[in-house]
Amino acid sequence: MIIRSAVARRLFSNPSSCPSSYSWCTTTSTRSSLSSSLVDQKRSSSSSSSAVGVGLPAYMRAAVFWEPNKPLTIEEFHIPRPKSGEILIKTKACGVCHSDLHVLKGELPFASPCVVGHEITGEIVEHGPATDKKTTERLPIGSHVVGAFIMPCGSCFFCSKGHDDLCEDFFAYNRAKGTLYDGETRLFLRSSGKPVYMYSMGGLAEYCVVPANALTILPKSLPYTESAILGCAVFTAYGAMAHAAEIRPGDSVAVVGIGGVGSSCLQIARAFGASDIIAVDVQDEKLQKAKLFGATHAINAAKEDAVEKIMELTGGKGVDVAVEALGKPQTFLQCVQSVRDGGKAVFIGLTAAGAVGEVDINRLVRRKIKIIGSYGARARQDLPKIVRLAESGIFDLSSAVSRRYKFEESDTAFHDLNQGSIVGRAVVEIM
Ligand SMILES: [Zn+2]
Ligand SMILES: [Zn+2]
Repeated sequence: MIIRSAVARRLFSNPSSCPSSYSWCTTTSTRSSLSSSLVDQKRSSSSSSSAVGVGLPAYMRAAVFWEPNKPLTIEEFHIPRPKSGEILIKTKACGVCHSDLHVLKGELPFASPCVVGHEITGEIVEHGPATDKKTTERLPIGSHVVGAFIMPCGSCFFCSKGHDDLCEDFFAYNRAKGTLYDGETRLFLRSSGKPVYMYSMGGLAEYCVVPANALTILPKSLPYTESAILGCAVFTAYGAMAHAAEIRPGDSVAVVGIGGVGSSCLQIARAFGASDIIAVDVQDEKLQKAKLFGATHAINAAKEDAVEKIMELTGGKGVDVAVEALGKPQTFLQCVQSVRDGGKAVFIGLTAAGAVGEVDINRLVRRKIKIIGSYGARARQDLPKIVRLAESGIFDLSSAVSRRYKFEESDTAFHDLNQGSIVGRAVVEIM
């Protein structure tokens, strides 16, 4: 198995048996060490601005990715410190996403060691020093929040135009270097003090630092676990449907790949009034569940030709919008072939770095096919709307989360995702 070994399985199931080479074993019980290490007021007030906040533990645990195809290990860290415009979150839940898996398998190059996890909910425990009043008033201590995986800086060329999803700093610092926007990580190992990089906010951790622009209040009526998926799976689906596909009532939509993001696309398409919603996958179990999410038709692409079937269902025309949520060259082509003349093929599935998709150029030109990429959505504008869709029940969160894991089972969760055995979305519950 690619990201898992028998050794790691034993480690997670019985922490006391782990070899001393794993630094998290240096304390017999991390949880008890955390609760007993609450920092007293005297110590925090006598230190510099980087001192741990009052009432916060001095250390935390996070799941660390070291190198491709090696298991995640749970390590102890100094409690991360937020800087100006950033918020410290006590993480409650973190979704298990294919983008993280691409990093763990070495398919998407990323700085390592790092903490992955970019689909979080949690409670605000601290504001970075000198964070502006509007932000601290919008996001008070104790609030429940959900975080978008694209964390907009708020002031670059694209952010200033409202295109948070293209934020220059997010791509230049976080995606390219594994840091926040001062070029530094907030994660340092307890044992050695060495820096560990952050994939988005590094959400597979007991605490994480998030730029305030990525956060939206989560109403108390929405549970932490289910709501975690709002920040990537639903966020990505919303961006694709609202901004790339611009779905209109009565549109016909095909979604290829019914995982966490694909099934969210079905729900958003239904919410936007699409009349024909065609789910395409190779697993009958996923296709069965697709009907709950709003699919009016299901195609098992392992048993029949998906393009032919889509043509048949649409009277030979093709769909107004086809969405590819897998990131595979073969389904890229199928998606383009499935849209009607003038239709939109929308791509949201990430793939191995350097993968290339093929297009029939003459059809593209003569039949005005639109090929549109879409990465997430716009945190400040869209995330509050996405939360409202969930709060009002228009987006059904309860059926979208299919499996829960404990924090100590983080590695198992990605193992299961890699096996294709997760129908819908899995979430790691942190505390
Ligand atoms: Zn994701
Ligand atoms: Zn920006």
